[in-house]
Amino acid sequence: MPSTFQPIRRTHGQTLLIDADDTLWENNIYFERAIASFISYLDHQIHTPAEVREHLNRCEHATISAHGYGLRSFRRSLVNCFEQLVGAPVTDEQHQRIHSFADSIAHHEIELLPRVAETLAELTTRHRLILVTKGDPAEQTGKLQRSGLAPHFTAVEVLPEKHNEAYLSLSAHHRCDAAHTWMIGNSPRSDINPALSAGLHAVFIPHSFTWILEHETVKPAPSGQHLLELLAFADLLHHF
Ligand SMILES: [Mg+2]
Repeated sequence: MPSTFQPIRRTHGQTLLIDADDTLWENNIYFERAIASFISYLDHQIHTPAEVREHLNRCEHATISAHGYGLRSFRRSLVNCFEQLVGAPVTDEQHQRIHSFADSIAHHEIELLPRVAETLAELTTRHRLILVTKGDPAEQTGKLQRSGLAPHFTAVEVLPEKHNEAYLSLSAHHRCDAAHTWMIGNSPRSDINPALSAGLHAVFIPHSFTWILEHETVKPAPSGQHLLELLAFADLLHHF
């Protein structure tokens, strides 16, 4: 990790690809709260809460592989997890209750992380900003609209998955010059490692409550590419 990196103000004209969930605004904490409510509702007599959580992670993995990211997948994972651990079909009443945990997430106000709005407002005067997120397109663009941050971005990409090929095709589509393009985000698995392997630079801004399915060891930057690790989004202004 480049802990001795000396901040310098870079010149104009970089392309900054910026993640949304848990980089610009809170997201995973709402899921964590919904999961905690689900686990206490399930109140399993044999499995511990940690075991229920592990099973839910497996259900989420399977649902996402088949149906992609988003609240509909999350709702489906909760129902599958409940059914599998209880060993009986879910009743209508239980269905409603389980859906209410997922629905609580949809109705949250957008809670921006510290100094995000002013940082983007300044970055957009010097650089091209592209929002790069994954998930359900309607959910993600809805959050962007409600956040009030949309005017800072010249383009928005909601991808089904953020892997190496996705970054390569996005870079080609937006004519990004890899030497001047940076992916900025909180997820080693979706933001940092695949962007580095696609030849881009990366800025890792860890969030204390990053979703467990996004955990991965951050790989070192290949030679000729840069990887920065920052404590806060506003620290981008020391570098860009
Ligand atoms: Mg994120």
